[in-house]
Amino acid sequence: MSLIVMKFGGSSVGTIERMQRVARRIADYMEAGHRVAVVVSAMGDTTDDLIDQSKQLNPNPPAREMDMLLTTGEQMSVALLSMAIHQLGREAVSLTGWQAGFRTEPVHSKARITDIRPDRILRALDEGKAVVVAGFQGMTEDGEITTFGRGGSDTTAVALAAAIQADVCEIFTDVDGVYSTDPRIVKNARKLAEISYDEMLELANLGAAVLHPRAVEYAKHHNVKLIVRSSFTHNEGTTVKEEAVMEQGVVVRGIAYDKDVARISILGVEDVPGVLAKVFGALASSGIDVDIIVQSGVQDGKADFAFTVSRGDAASAIGIVESIRSEVPYREVTSEQDLVKVSIVGAGMVSNPGVAAKMFEAIYKLGVSIKMVSTSEIRLSCIIAAEPVQEVVRALHTAYGLDTTEQAFVGGPQERR
Ligand code: ADP
Ligand code: ASP
Ligand code: MG
Repeated sequence: MSLIVMKFGGSSVGTIERMQRVARRIADYMEAGHRVAVVVSAMGDTTDDLIDQSKQLNPNPPAREMDMLLTTGEQMSVALLSMAIHQLGREAVSLTGWQAGFRTEPVHSKARITDIRPDRILRALDEGKAVVVAGFQGMTEDGEITTFGRGGSDTTAVALAAAIQADVCEIFTDVDGVYSTDPRIVKNARKLAEISYDEMLELANLGAAVLHPRAVEYAKHHNVKLIVRSSFTHNEGTTVKEEAVMEQGVVVRGIAYDKDVARISILGVEDVPGVLAKVFGALASSGIDVDIIVQSGVQDGKADFAFTVSRGDAASAIGIVESIRSEVPYREVTSEQDLVKVSIVGAGMVSNPGVAAKMFEAIYKLGVSIKMVSTSEIRLSCIIAAEPVQEVVRALHTAYGLDTTEQAFVGGPQERR
């Protein structure tokens, strides 16, 4: 008998019939003698639909009201799923994030969990009930409702698993594991039997939607056994763990891409000490995350530099750069939105010369130009124009010997996106 956290994403509960199938799966675990805590997302496209509706009423809705709105999607799901479990003759209790004891920092739309008080969950589990917790939501000390960011239900699940010391946290989704790249883009992507926390964290941060980055961070920190698998099949999934065995000769484990990239260029900046400190200090104090930064050589006492931010932050970043023009004189500030970041990830990269050259070569062969580059020990990212990204991902997948014919992609229907 184990204590298991099962998490079901939006497409896994997108229809009444799927909700019933998920309830069956939970009841089967209970019948096998396991104690089960479940985390569930909003049904299908609900979150996107709520966002669309809000934007029709107000293009810049207050963040507090947005969190109030979006948490209703998950609340619908937990109530319906509990009812479906009851219908199968098992007891279940649904809980909102705050009823489940999730406390967060006072930040809307991307709050971090500060504390979990799982007493109520543990009591219900002891009473033999399935506990069904609403994903990606919590409450501040002041009683304000917060959310964890898109895809954040994974983080609810992992944090819950850590808090109740579950034996395993299973993330059920619409693909049957973590693949070498998005299997919806590359049909002969290979399913990974296992992947290390560090590699998964890089992939998730670099755009692989299959797991929320904070969920991986949390799993690593609290040593949660994490499995990603399909809610549509019973295939074995991917285990995310501390050390993962690397196949012989495989240097790059996975490829990810992120469309949420904007580049801001500041041209003709006076080359005096403190310029970067002033610009990035101002951006940081406004809570804007900067990713890649590149500074060109100095000519006639002037330099150009460029940095990337998420698209949603581009307008504010430009506003901030303009607001400090008297302190940091420059000729011009420009922005580009139609960009994407393509990245390769692998723990074996650090000791393998030639990995970067191969990436540049594969991109060059497609006639695509690379606008920016950034590296870490286990990652290499290039900023390119958004349009050819799928071709680039496929070419890189082939170039690093990742294509497979053995494990064709088995996934659920693609409902969202
Ligand atoms: P859920 O609603 O279950 O949380 P998500 O849409 O958030 O599901 O995540 C699953 C999706 O992640 C898949 O449908 C797939 O298109 C995408 N994905 C991106 N990169 C990968 C990868 N490397 N392996 C598996 N899936 C990936
Ligand atoms: N419903 C939220 C979203 O669509 C959270 C989640 O599904 O993880 O982003
Ligand atoms: Mg998700």
